[in-house]
Amino acid sequence: KGMTDHVDADTEEALKKYGRPLHVIEGPLMDGMRVVGDLFGAGKMFLPQVVKSARVMKKSVAWLTPYMEEEKRQALAAGGEASSKAKIIMATVKGDVHDIGKNIVGVVLACNGYEIVDLGVMVPADKILAAAREHKAEMIGLSGLITPSLDEMVHVASEMTREGFTIPLLIGGATTSKAHTAVKIEPRYAHGVVHVIDASRVVGVAGKLANPDTREAYKAEIRAEYEKVRIDFEAKRARVHLLSLDAARKNRTPIDWATSEIAVPSQTGITVLEDFPLEELVPFIDWSPFFHAWELRGRFPKILDDEVVGTQARELYEDGQRILKWLVGEKKVRAKAVYGLFPANAVGDDIELYGDTARTTTLTTFHTLRQQAPKPEGQPHHALSDFIAPRASGRLDYAGCFAVSIHGVDTLAAELEAQNNDFDALMVKAISDRFAEAFAECLHKKVRDLWGYGLTEGLTPEEIIREQYRGIRPAPGYPACPEHTEKRLLFELLDAEKRIGMKLTENCAMWPASAVSGFYLAHPDSKYFAVGRLGKDQIEDYAKRKGMSVAEVEKWLAPNLNYEPGGA
Ligand code: SAH
Repeated sequence: KGMTDHVDADTEEALKKYGRPLHVIEGPLMDGMRVVGDLFGAGKMFLPQVVKSARVMKKSVAWLTPYMEEEKRQALAAGGEASSKAKIIMATVKGDVHDIGKNIVGVVLACNGYEIVDLGVMVPADKILAAAREHKAEMIGLSGLITPSLDEMVHVASEMTREGFTIPLLIGGATTSKAHTAVKIEPRYAHGVVHVIDASRVVGVAGKLANPDTREAYKAEIRAEYEKVRIDFEAKRARVHLLSLDAARKNRTPIDWATSEIAVPSQTGITVLEDFPLEELVPFIDWSPFFHAWELRGRFPKILDDEVVGTQARELYEDGQRILKWLVGEKKVRAKAVYGLFPANAVGDDIELYGDTARTTTLTTFHTLRQQAPKPEGQPHHALSDFIAPRASGRLDYAGCFAVSIHGVDTLAAELEAQNNDFDALMVKAISDRFAEAFAECLHKKVRDLWGYGLTEGLTPEEIIREQYRGIRPAPGYPACPEHTEKRLLFELLDAEKRIGMKLTENCAMWPASAVSGFYLAHPDSKYFAVGRLGKDQIEDYAKRKGMSVAEVEKWLAPNLNYEPGGA
């Protein structure tokens, strides 16, 4: 704040006095930002402080730009050279929409003297490469949230090779890992591929790659490190011997369907909530992931008193509350939902939803996956379908699904970015993500009440956030149901696009980005688990059940395969 005041008040004077705004203002500003960047890299400053510092920097630079351009023009006219910054292309890959992490990294890099060309979200490879060529970029940074984006990153790397690129490629985002980067991406491109685990590392990595004195040594170091990762990965993979799908099915979750209680909802069918009051979502917000989004580690509310990050956490929480009150008070974003409960039965590892209790029409069939990795004696091999009464049991059961999203976030964030207020733009997105998750929690409460057992659960909001209730809401793309295309069936059943304007990208990312969708399962024994590694027998069975080719299923479930697709 001090800096902006100075810039507003004193620059005019400085200009009159020295006539050299670049040296008077930009130099010290950049020096200051470098200190911020170094302290951040060393763990002595925290991400929110960096982003706030960047806001001062950006506003100041915006003020200075016309003068700087004039100076540059004069330098060129006098036959001199105008210095330019190293450019980095940033993009969330095709089929993916989430950009909080990418934007954070962009802000941090911009603070450290790089010029960021941010191509936004859902960006196809050809557009990324064209931009890199056009801007003579020194690096490309890719981001992705969902697992299908991993494949897209492999594709971009292959295209860089095909088109003869030689600039380094940075990989980041929630779904990415050093292992995937080393095993799948790095072998496709020979000129430097580096996984960047979080924003605090990006400055170090980019610095080593941008500097001609360190570049080649660093690339060689990474190449050697990734080769080791690949060897470890191969060794680990070779050790897993899966159960056959038949054997895993025989060891399904034991539920005695002859005697098991089945909750009957007081209402079935689809409900739409077009503009749910945001203030009703606030008590359901789980704040811990909010701090994680800003790279402050710890659990809420304990984090507020943490010895190391407490001060930062309290300040960030206050900033979060400020934006939250603004969004709620001015109705800046809208919360929409569609959900439904239906008569249902399990048939094999599938879950059928019916249009009526006589089961004369089947609305849709969801397909679930079963654990096949070896387990200690006595532990079952779960599939989500185990938690629904099999049709053969003669009993009718119920299941449901939901989709929620927060609308208007992109426009609002773009307005704030246009005012150089990246901090508030990021905060709007972070809080909207919280609203979406809170809405999922709030709806789940309503649904448990419809199912009856919720009415007597007597849980505090904290206990609800800790999910200490009966039943689950597994989300496609998460470990119990890692295959994303089930969202297409879910969206179709709920008609989520027509009813509340939600869309799926070609890779099944949900738009708007602040969104949650999933299934409702009510059985007291139902729980979250990880499907884990899958054998070719199950992939073939699943492909048949879904009417997809084996190759296509292998693509969607690539991270779960226990074999090399196309091989034996
Ligand atoms: N309260 C947290 C919840 C985030 S993740 C927040 O506000 O961010 C938790 C959600 O992901 C669950 O509600 C469920 O919908 C889904 N989920 C978690 N673990 C899962 C698993 N193993 N399989 C499928 N879905 C899962």
